[in-house]
Amino acid sequence: MNSKVALVTGGSRGIGRATALLLADQGYQVAVNYVNNTRAAQQVVDEIKAKGGEALAIQADIGDEAQVVAMFKIIADQMGPIDALVNNAGILFQQSTIENISAERINRVLNTNVTGYFLCCREAVKVMSKKHGGQGGAIVNVSSAASRLGAPNEYIDYAASKGAVDSLTTGLSLEVAGYGIRVNAVRPGLIYTEMHASGGEAGRVDRVGASLPMQRGGQPEEVAQAIVWLLSDAASFVTGSFIDLAGGK
Ligand code: NAP
Repeated sequence: MNSKVALVTGGSRGIGRATALLLADQGYQVAVNYVNNTRAAQQVVDEIKAKGGEALAIQADIGDEAQVVAMFKIIADQMGPIDALVNNAGILFQQSTIENISAERINRVLNTNVTGYFLCCREAVKVMSKKHGGQGGAIVNVSSAASRLGAPNEYIDYAASKGAVDSLTTGLSLEVAGYGIRVNAVRPGLIYTEMHASGGEAGRVDRVGASLPMQRGGQPEEVAQAIVWLLSDAASFVTGSFIDLAGGK
């Protein structure tokens, strides 16, 4: 067992939840970030504690700079310096072609999916970087197959936000490689989570999954395995890399 400290943004549900649970199984202390669903976040914390692990639920909107700074202070004070960041919290809205996508919607998507990822990376780098006296660390950004496919007729605003996450991953990985920090990304495809209900089609994974080369959608736990591997010492020479978990598409 190690006592490394990990932050999983959006750790209350879906892919983040599966990742938080798996990290706890590996001995990490886990900060479980969420924005609204206190009950779901507390359930993750309770599940980790029931197995003898350590976890803390922290409410913070990752798109709000002051809230992100406050969250990192809570983690430093209560758990110690962070070793691992999983930038996972993300949003999308009702499926639509571009004609009905408002500036307000675009800005909300970018605020959470891009600005939020940048802010959490920034605060993590300040703690982890050997340039600032830190011990190094690892960051995994949860992007999406949508960054490659573009999500036409559904949510190209969301796809574009994930394109930005890919560029962030490449740029930051090069910027901090010499300071002991590895930065990688996973690009999940269709995964069974509640996110699809936000797009107006809760059953989307079942509808589209059959058309994938692997003829099914994926489970959050299958994504969590790749994230936890990228964070681990087993991936010690891996940075600036992308793992596609998309059933072959
Ligand atoms: P989900 O089930 O809808 O869960 C979203 C999580 O993000 C929740 O924990 C939610 O907190 C949190 N969250 C949302 N906005 C936030 C904010 N502003 N600040 C802090 N937390 C916030 O989503 P998911 O499907 O697991 O998706 C996780 C990541 O995987 C996202 O980045 C998504 O783009 C990516 N992804 C998902 C799929 C898929 O098919 N599901 C495919 C490719 C990529 P609350 O519980 O408090 O609401």
